[in-house]
Amino acid sequence: MKLELRGITKRFGPLVANDSIDLVVEPGEIHALLGENGAGKSTLMNVLYGLYEPDEGQILLDGEPVTFNGPGDAVAAGIGMVHQHFMLVPVFTVAESVALGYEPAGPLGVIDRRAARKRVKEISDRFGFNLDPDAVIEDLPVGAQQRVEIIKALSREAKVLILDEPTAVLTPQETDELIAIMRQLKAEGTSIVFITHKLREVRAIADSITVIRRGKVVGEASPTSSETELASLMVGRSVSMAVDKAPAEPGEEELVISDLTVLDAKGSAAVDRVDLTVRRGEIVVIAGVQGNGQTELTETILGLTDPLSGSIRIAGREMVGQPVKERLRAGLGFVPEDRSTSGVISSFSVAENFVLDLYDTRPFARFGTVLPSVVDANARRRSQEFDVRLTDVQDPISTLSGGNQQKVVVAREMSRPLRVLVASQPTRGVDVGSIEFIHERLVVERDNGTAVLLVSSELDEVMALADRIAVMYRGRVVGIVPGDTERDVLGLMMAGVPLEEARAQSAEHRTALAAADVMSEEKL
Ligand code: ADP
Ligand code: MG
Repeated sequence: MKLELRGITKRFGPLVANDSIDLVVEPGEIHALLGENGAGKSTLMNVLYGLYEPDEGQILLDGEPVTFNGPGDAVAAGIGMVHQHFMLVPVFTVAESVALGYEPAGPLGVIDRRAARKRVKEISDRFGFNLDPDAVIEDLPVGAQQRVEIIKALSREAKVLILDEPTAVLTPQETDELIAIMRQLKAEGTSIVFITHKLREVRAIADSITVIRRGKVVGEASPTSSETELASLMVGRSVSMAVDKAPAEPGEEELVISDLTVLDAKGSAAVDRVDLTVRRGEIVVIAGVQGNGQTELTETILGLTDPLSGSIRIAGREMVGQPVKERLRAGLGFVPEDRSTSGVISSFSVAENFVLDLYDTRPFARFGTVLPSVVDANARRRSQEFDVRLTDVQDPISTLSGGNQQKVVVAREMSRPLRVLVASQPTRGVDVGSIEFIHERLVVERDNGTAVLLVSSELDEVMALADRIAVMYRGRVVGIVPGDTERDVLGLMMAGVPLEEARAQSAEHRTALAAADVMSEEKL
């Protein structure tokens, strides 16, 4: 089915989220929609899926204009969507999940389980999904849950499938599996709109690429474009993807975590007997798919959570049992994972957010009175140094873009002398230009002698910055490896495969590839 969007405009109050967007997706094509966070990708897809009514513009299917008054209409017209956050019920089986809202109903209107199971099995076998119709959703890995969502769309005869940032929650291997599935769907004639901000994936699979920036289409690109070219289109200026950094010169141990166990609310070990050391002058990255204990680990280092057992030392001093303030005083800097709940106070001004922990101390206050001129001058200087784009330091920080808010947090944390900096997903939801800047500053901080512990689930970021990499899986550190470890070895470890086995599997894979190469050469 051919899909055309013509002049789609969608406003939220004064904000134009989609500004007269044109998009053509040919039958059986994988069309990547590429853009930074906040560019308007999800909004456009929600319009296409009937969730939002466009203010202007038209949707055409095979040349015929259509109007959707809700997702039901879109589904009936052959459009399927897998949202970034799936909407599955954890205790349902795969077959029940697929039947929900589709319901091959029997004569009495009850869900026909047998029909549903049969349908799941059929689709699963046809596309090599490898899904058991009777498996319970909550027992399945995220990648398999995503395949359930895809089956759900396919079982309703989707001709155009929208995948909104599907790889954000996947390990690299799961991503490869998804890419294989997308190829298979394409071979069967399904059109796919593939949304991502990851350039590597776009180049791997897209037939055509539309780049949007600030709600507007800024260009079409060919899949043969380089990552740098695509990134420049996305951001609107040239960016460098590589991080310039000299080899680390690690010094004394500044952060020493030993045998640390932290329980989650349900009483199971979110962090399980973790040992980890970070020396001054090095960046250690904790790699892993989100939700494997990284959050609990960093919150315990800061002191928001108490461990069940184990020790955390900063510069030789035990920190377990000490309040947060004491840890900050010992030289800990912290860039939280969720900026909006613990990084900034939205209603405060930019200037105030620059001194959140320090506002009652010199030089920002004297005899208990805050000195606004000093606070403002500090903010102006720091904003300049960290390239924070703003109109006035007195404006509420909520008026800044996500990337600029994050730069305020990073600048604030780096503006006092640190021994240890813990940065948790510091570039999540941040535009490419700001990512580049934040990366550079992390390296500067390292070179100034700080021990940097970075948590990241973006493999490109891990590989660009790490001097050493600790991979976390289900609360445990699966292995600690050098910063230049191969991507596929890291990917396997992120799925819980121990280091030696990951190395062996990856070597085997490479030998097989090389053999295949020789064979194809022989044929020539
Ligand atoms: P993307 O998917 O490319 O990251 P979105 O389409 O989610 O971007 O968002 C585009 C812009 O529209 C952003 O500035 C976002 O804050 C805004 N936006 C999205 N949904 C809403 C909404 N329901 N109400 C108000 N603003 C919204
Ligand atoms: Mg989105």
